[in-house]
Amino acid sequence: MRYLIIGNGAAGVSAAETIRANDPTGEIIIIGAEPYPMYSRPGLAYVLMNEVPWKQVMARRPEWYQRLQLSLVHGRVTHLDTAGKRVKLKNGRLISYDQLLIATGARAVPAPYPGADLKGVVYLDTLDGTRELRSQAKRGRKAVVIGGGITALELSEGLAANHVRTHYLLRRDRLWSAVFNDDEGQLLEEKIRSHGVKIHYHSELSEILGKRGKVNAVRLTNGEIIRCDLVGIGIGVRAQLEMVQNTPIKVDRAILVDQFMRTNIPHIYAAGDCAQVYDPWSETYNLDVLWPSAVAEGQAAGLNMTGHEHPYTKGIPFNACLLFGMHITAMGQINPRSDEADGELNVVQHLSRGSSELWYTYPRQYSSAWSKDGVNTVRLVLDGDFLVGALVIGDQALADPLRTVIQSRVNVSEILPQLKQGGSPMKAALEKLWIGIEAAEAGDNHSFGGS
Ligand SMILES: Cc1cc2nc3c(=O)[nH]c(=O)nc-3n(C[C@H](O)[C@H](O)[C@H](O)COP(=O)(O)OP(=O)(O)OC[C@H]3O[C@@H](n4cnc5c(N)ncnc54)[C@H](O)[C@@H]3O)c2cc1C
Repeated sequence: MRYLIIGNGAAGVSAAETIRANDPTGEIIIIGAEPYPMYSRPGLAYVLMNEVPWKQVMARRPEWYQRLQLSLVHGRVTHLDTAGKRVKLKNGRLISYDQLLIATGARAVPAPYPGADLKGVVYLDTLDGTRELRSQAKRGRKAVVIGGGITALELSEGLAANHVRTHYLLRRDRLWSAVFNDDEGQLLEEKIRSHGVKIHYHSELSEILGKRGKVNAVRLTNGEIIRCDLVGIGIGVRAQLEMVQNTPIKVDRAILVDQFMRTNIPHIYAAGDCAQVYDPWSETYNLDVLWPSAVAEGQAAGLNMTGHEHPYTKGIPFNACLLFGMHITAMGQINPRSDEADGELNVVQHLSRGSSELWYTYPRQYSSAWSKDGVNTVRLVLDGDFLVGALVIGDQALADPLRTVIQSRVNVSEILPQLKQGGSPMKAALEKLWIGIEAAEAGDNHSFGGS
């Protein structure tokens, strides 16, 4: 049996690992377009900030592939022949398969402006791109960054850390609006300013200007010109679908797969950022461009490719990051403004790296509780008597308890007053409930409960 995996990222590698655990003798080939072993894409922000050397983001060593007897082929797949069950690489090589997984991920949406191909237009997307971006940042003096999500914020922070005077442009007047409410946005704004980044609200780029092939300014829609030598683009990501374009594989915004990660073509699976996965609860196909989701989808695909019937069960969307010195953990349904859930956020261009559609595609009226203690905040999102989401900024002591409480779907009606009260009563009640759930899961049902 030959398993072929296109994509050497979180989804592809976790699928390979799972296949090997279930089929000790099958041949497993991983094709990756980049000349590296698997690396951590979230780690790229820290590479840009010079906090870690680029070699440190390698998540697997070459010996790991050898030990698991995985053949890693560096090359780009350009064609997929679903009838002949084989793929063609850019160098002309043909590789056949019995079972195929497509795990090609997503890439940054290119700048949709005149001047987008000038030198100095940069993205935080791949390892090679980030290394190039860092060397350009060392020579750059002034940058303009656009985009409403986490990538644009990471770009701004990274450029500022390289002593580039950075202007951050936002079309509207809210920071990371898919996740933050106005109060949280205010906290972030203070941090951004303290890092020397200048925020321009209600500002939209219309053109990137250059001289001799290099960026030297941007023009805004109001006619204003900002001089700069770098333009950072973080306006969302798009699934890499070129290879499946002339095939019978069904796609919408990404490759459509069922709960078993199967496409509509037998023996072909898809997982990770390039897959749009059927969710039986909402009866919709969802995008999740999160690292933990890619790992879990890869594992489910790997199991099913080896003959199991294992549905992918979606965990709660979870993201932990460090932005401008603020520790932020978002989990479950964040829904900062349910009134806007069906508005402009609900398109793939606004799905930022490290984000999930589930954060804002369920237009329900939730109640919420907000607790603030200096720079530390906790926002709880409640659906009746159940906690369905939380955003923890600063002190992360409640991140794990909240994740467990949300994931285990326990009724929190008994501690609702403490949750609404915030501060130490909320903390004590959540920790007690968490300990109870953990103990119950460990088999000690007597201590379950929270009362
Ligand atoms: C800067 C940055 C910050 C992020 N921060 C977070 C975060 O805080 N939290 C979080 O959860 N997620 C974050 N993410 C997103 C997370 O990294 C992705 O969700 C995850 O990497 C998706 O895994 P994947 O395997 O689907 O795709 P990728 O990791 O993108 O892997 C795709 C693989 O396919 C290969 N490939 C593509 N096309 C071809 C082809 N034609 N032929 C051969 N190989 C091909 C690529 O070379 C690569 O090996 C971040 C991403 C970036 C870039």
